[in-house]
Amino acid sequence: MRRRPRPPKRRPRVRPDEVPRVDRLWTPWRYQYITAPPSESGCVFCEKSHSTEDEANLIVHRARHNFVLLNLYPYNNGHLMVVPYSHVATLEEAETQTVDELFHLTRRCEALLRAVYRPQGINLGMNLGACAGAGVAGHIHMHLVPRWVGDSNFMTTLGETRVLPEELPVTRRRLAEAWESMNA
Ligand SMILES: [Zn+2]
Repeated sequence: MRRRPRPPKRRPRVRPDEVPRVDRLWTPWRYQYITAPPSESGCVFCEKSHSTEDEANLIVHRARHNFVLLNLYPYNNGHLMVVPYSHVATLEEAETQTVDELFHLTRRCEALLRAVYRPQGINLGMNLGACAGAGVAGHIHMHLVPRWVGDSNFMTTLGETRVLPEELPVTRRRLAEAWESMNA
C-alpha cells in the first residue's frame, strides 16, 4: 500500500520575531497593507497628493504644505494622518515651514476628532523607518488615532474583522464638513 504523502509543513506568514508586539495583539489585517506591493510611482502619499480625486482618496483637508487624510486601514474610526506634500523620510529633511504646519494641523485634527467623535483619548505619533512600523517608510506622516476605553479588547476579540471600507467615505464627509465649520 502506498503511503500517503505527508502534508507540506505550514510556514507562518510572518515570523513572530518580525512582528511588533502591539500590532500582533490587535491588528492582524494591517499586514495586507504593510506587505502590499508599492504603488506605481512607489509612494502612495505622493500619488494621492498629486491626484484630484480627493473624495476617493479620503482627503479631509488640503493646507499649504501638508494634507490631512483618513487611513485606508484604520486602527479605529476617525484614524487621520497629516502628510507633507514633499516626499521626505524624516522630519530633519522637511522644510521648517512644513514641519510647523504639520504640527499646527495635528493640533487642529485633535480638536476636530474631539468635536466629531468625542474620543476618550487620542494616540498620535510617527513611525520613522520600516523597522519602526512605518507602512510608507519613505514619506513621513503623523497618525492620530481616537481611542475609547476597551476598544483594543474589542479589536482583539474580533481580530480578523476590520472596519468596513464603505464607512470611510462617510467618515471623510463628516470630518471635512466639521473642518469647514471649525474654520468658519
Ligand atoms: Zn511620497
